[in-house]
Formats: sequence, C-alpha cells, structure tokens
Amino acid sequence: MFEWSDEQLMVRDAVRQFIDKEIRPNLEELEHGDTPPYDTLRKLFATFGMDAAARDRFANQIAFEKQVADAVAAGDQPPDRPKRDGDGGASSLTIIPIIELCRVCPGMVTAMGVSVGLTSAAIMSKGTIAQKERWVPELLTLEKVGAWAITEPDSGSDAFGSMKASARRDGDEYLLNGSKTFITNGPYADTIVFICKLDEGNPPAERTILSFVLERGTAGLEQSKPLRKMGMHSSPTGELFLTDVRVGRDRLIGETEDVVSGGREGAKTTFQQERSGVAAMALGIIQECLELSVAYAKDRVQFGQPIGRFQLIQDKLARMEVARLNVENLVFRTVEMSAAGRPMTLAEASAMKLYSARAATEVALEAVQLFGGNGYMSEFRVEQLARDAKVLQIYAGTDEIQITHIAKDLLRR
Ligand SMILES: Cc1cc2nc3c(=O)[nH]c(=O)nc-3n(C[C@H](O)[C@H](O)[C@H](O)COP(=O)(O)OP(=O)(O)OC[C@H]3O[C@@H](n4cnc5c(N)ncnc54)[C@H](O)[C@@H]3O)c2cc1C
Repeated sequence: MFEWSDEQLMVRDAVRQFIDKEIRPNLEELEHGDTPPYDTLRKLFATFGMDAAARDRFANQIAFEKQVADAVAAGDQPPDRPKRDGDGGASSLTIIPIIELCRVCPGMVTAMGVSVGLTSAAIMSKGTIAQKERWVPELLTLEKVGAWAITEPDSGSDAFGSMKASARRDGDEYLLNGSKTFITNGPYADTIVFICKLDEGNPPAERTILSFVLERGTAGLEQSKPLRKMGMHSSPTGELFLTDVRVGRDRLIGETEDVVSGGREGAKTTFQQERSGVAAMALGIIQECLELSVAYAKDRVQFGQPIGRFQLIQDKLARMEVARLNVENLVFRTVEMSAAGRPMTLAEASAMKLYSARAATEVALEAVQLFGGNGYMSEFRVEQLARDAKVLQIYAGTDEIQITHIAKDLLRR
C-alpha cells in the first residue's frame, strides 16, 4: 500500500467537511474555553457510523469469545477466529479521522484515543466476558468517557517500580488508595481503569499489579478539575484521588489476581496500542504544517522575492517532506499489518512512536520558524500544532523510554 484507495479518500474528504463545519469554527472555544470535546466527538461518531460499526465489531468479538468459552467448557476444539475484513482493520474509519483531526485539533484525538482506545482495550484484553459487556460498548461509542490511570506524582517512566497506589483485600472486597496524575479525561471520566499494586505486606517490588474499573461518583473517588498545560488544550487532563474506595472482585479486571491474566502484561499490551496510534497523530500534524508552510513560502515576500526562493527555506520544506513520507509509510505499514492480522512487537511500536513523535515536533517547530513572527502568533495555527506535537515525545512513554525498549529488544535477540 502506498496511497489511500478511492473509497478511503472519500471518507477522508467527508471527515474534512465535518471538521470544517463542526470543529474549525469552534476551535477557539475547544482550545481555550471550557467546552470539553466529547459532544463534538460523539457527533463525529454518529455522522460516520463509527458508533454503530464499533457496536457491531464488539458484538462479533463477544459472540466469538462465547463460542470459544463454550467449546473449552465442553472439551471441544475452539473455533478459528473469523477472517478480518481486509481493509486494514477498518482503517478508513479509525486512522483517517485521527489524521484529519490532528491537522486541526490533536487534543481531540488524545481525548478520543484514551477513551475509545486505551480504556476499552485494557478491559477487552484481560477482562471477563461479563466485564466487557458491562463497560466496553458504551466506551467504544463514547456514550461514556473513559480514562486509563497508571501515572502517579512519583511514578512516571518507572510506572511499575515506583507505584504507590494500592489495593488491600478486605474480606471479599478490596480497598483502593492512591493518587494518579496527568490522567487524560480524568476530570470528566465516567469509567476509569485504575492500575495499582496488591499490598499484602510484602516488599513493594514484589507486589502484584492489578487493574480495577471504577465509575464516576464512587464513594472515596475524587476527580480534579482540568490541569493547565502547554498544549493539547482540547484534551482535559487531571488528577484522581482515591481514599478507601471499596470495590468487589467484579471490578478487578479478569476477576483474578493472576499476573499472567491481568497485571503487567495487560498494561504492556495497552502501551503497545497507544504507541502505534501516535504515528497517525504525527502524520496529521506534519501534513498540516507542511501544507501551511508551502503556501506561506510562496506568499510571503522579503527582499523582493517569495521566501520560498531562499535555499534555507527550501531546506526546511524538503526536510518536512522527508518526514511526511517516512511517517506516512509507517502509518501505511500499520494498516497493512493490521489487515494481515500481524501484531506489532513492542520494539516496532516503540521505534515507530519515537521516530514519528520527533518528526512531528521538529516539523512543527520548523514551521513556526518559517512563518517568522507570524509563526509565534496563534492566528497562523502552527504555534498550536508545535505546542500540541511536543507531548507526543512525552506521553505513552517518553522518547528516552522508547529508546530503552527498542535497544532492550534488539540486544535480547
Ligand atoms: C498531556 C498528558 C497526558 C497524559 N495522559 C496520561 C493518561 O491518560 N494516563 C496515564 O497514566 N498517564 C498519562 N500521562 C503521563 C505520561 O505517560 C508521563 O508523563 C510519562 O510517561 C513520563 O513520566 P513522567 O512525567 O513522570 O516523567 P519522568 O519519568 O519523571 O521522566 C523525567 C525525564 O527523565 C527521563 N527518564 C526517565 N527514566 C529514564 C531512563 N530509564 N533512562 C533515560 N531517561 C529516563 C524521561 O525520559 C524524562 O525526560 C500523560 C502525560 C501528559 C503530559
């Protein structure tokens, strides 16, 4: 695959029209006002049938899982997984809106991705069938807003090592305590995946990692107001405080304390998915910055000629185009791998995230430079994209952590 099909281009154009009508006119309010992004995202989902498609995919997946469970219970051979749809895992309905939204409002993608992607994936990957049916459908359609909470004030890159959030057994129930920070959708989340350590009085390094599903309004759970931050203003980020939150085993993902079924492996699968999504986000930012830069280079006259005639400006445009091609190829590769049912390794997902995040930040900052003083002004838009791009190098694992993961995998072979 080296370009989108005609059908996919039609989806892209329709998404562009939606963005022009529903998002661009409200960008100021979404970026700098108090309006959360969820209603606009729900409208996007409804307009493109993304909610109905998600519901169908979920129903098929659950039907398959039930057949497998029945076969296993009866001692029969489990059925084969049904064939995929061959269009790259519904890529036109997932990746194209991510790219297009990121050209204008990357924060909306962060809010959407954490809710629809990360939170539901955490439950889908390790939850029981009953847990999936209870929480996932409304997350996939954005009827409910989801948050995935691992980071704490003293535990970021070393997410498991320094984690203080705890679960203590209390009869048949658990008491959860701890605080989480930088949680996307934290202020508005209805459904929260809370990752913590089982405290059995053993040394913290030996404690089992568990994930629980919490709901807004649960006694002892406090959700902060949105934190102020550098970019991604349309994605609310907040803190969570848990004081003796009492939950039953039905909220423990997988309903088991077995680490293989839940715990670290579950969280790692989620990292992987998060990382591969960043390339599509980076592509949207790069495409927009490049197009705006080319237009400005033709239009802006200094020393009696368009600045695009200066070789130093041409160098910037050429580097942006190299980045666009490389990141686009990574995105197409993801689509192809998904269509082939070939999962990405953690090293591949990390390499892709590292490269794309750096490329998006470099391109956006160079776009600001190319625009000169106008580049520093909000009106010209590259300023927002540069602030937004920076966090791609920080969340979902910093650049430095991606490097360590890639190297660890290479050296292990
Ligand atoms: C806008 C935003 C949204 C977020 N959303 C979520 C969310 O929804 N859920 C969630 O759980 N978290 C979320 N996060 C948290 C994010 O994942 C962390 O900020 C990130 O993992 C880095 O952790 P930290 O901030 O504690 O930095 P630290 O881990 O303290 O890192 C500080 C610096 O040290 C470097 N460093 C750390 N360890 C090493 C090492 N071994 N080798 C080399 N260098 C190292 C880092 O790369 C970094 O440069 C979000 C963060 C932001 C900014």
